[in-house]
Amino acid sequence: MFNGFMEKLVAGRWIAGPTVDDAIERGKRFNKLGIGAILNYLGEALTDQKDIGDAMEAYREILKKVTKGDPLTQISVKPTQIGLSVSLDLAKKNFAEIVRSAGEKGIFIWVDMEESNLVDQTINLYESQLPNENIGLCVQAYLKRSIDDVKRLTEKGGTVRLVKGAYTEPETIAYKSKQDIDKNYVEIMQYLFDNAKRFMVASHDDKIIEKAREINKEKKKEVWYAMLNGIRNQYLIKLQQEGEKVFSYIPFGKKWIQYSVRRMQEAGHISLLMKSILHGQKI
Ligand SMILES: Cc1cc2nc3c(=O)[nH]c(=O)nc-3n(C[C@H](O)[C@H](O)[C@H](O)COP(=O)(O)OP(=O)(O)OC[C@H]3O[C@@H](n4cnc5c(N)ncnc54)[C@H](O)[C@@H]3O)c2cc1C
Repeated sequence: MFNGFMEKLVAGRWIAGPTVDDAIERGKRFNKLGIGAILNYLGEALTDQKDIGDAMEAYREILKKVTKGDPLTQISVKPTQIGLSVSLDLAKKNFAEIVRSAGEKGIFIWVDMEESNLVDQTINLYESQLPNENIGLCVQAYLKRSIDDVKRLTEKGGTVRLVKGAYTEPETIAYKSKQDIDKNYVEIMQYLFDNAKRFMVASHDDKIIEKAREINKEKKKEVWYAMLNGIRNQYLIKLQQEGEKVFSYIPFGKKWIQYSVRRMQEAGHISLLMKSILHGQKI
């Protein structure tokens, strides 16, 4: 668990704690409610061999501790924490190791998507392990290129986790207004409903989630819904109770500041931030 006041107040809402055991323990609390856990070790843009080694060790430890075939535990890795900031080859080597161990345990592995200058390499990294039904890649709806990426990934049998996107990107390559991002999100989602076997809607946006559920009454696809831990836990529980397959994305580790700043920026206005802090969303 976190010790400092700020850590407890801010990071404690969204982050399980510094250790793998904290992450597993938080995941189990969701699992008891029938909600899956996507565990993610904090840290990005790592270039130091020791830091990259620590990230790899965290994932090895989860894969050692998780029960074989557990459908309620998944892992999400950031390319730049497993070596992409050093070289694509290093990231590929480390990703191959994680995918191999996860395959032995029957655990699903996601690849997070980071800044736009990393998208090509990240797709390359992900595709280096295809075909494989137990790996998926995050795609950001704010990027204008994403519909083409999703088409190509779907044709290759990849699994997509669709998000709006969390970084600041230039207008030349990204939609900037909520309206345009949402429109592109829904278009890509519709493509996935028409063409993919299974995908993940990763959003807290009830308008988008309810639209997906409406479309799926007819399409009957395997759709997973996911939200970040501590943002709208109660909504996640409601979706689970209504029969949806849902996951909570649970970051853990000591590097909590960058992640927490992104979540605060996204809340956009103080009322949304207070909502997620006060309406406890505690599990
Ligand atoms: C599982 C998961 C994995 C992700 N992985 C990545 C990744 O790999 N790369 C990446 O770039 N981004 C990732 N993201 C972050 C994502 O890109 C967005 O930045 C983030 O999800 C906010 O977008 P939104 O879809 O929730 O919509 P927003 O437009 O931010 O919010 C839409 C609406 O949701 C509701 N809402 C949002 N927050 C709250 C709240 N606190 N309380 C009540 N209502 C609220 C409000 O009605 C709001 O208007 C991930 C998100 C999730 C959920």
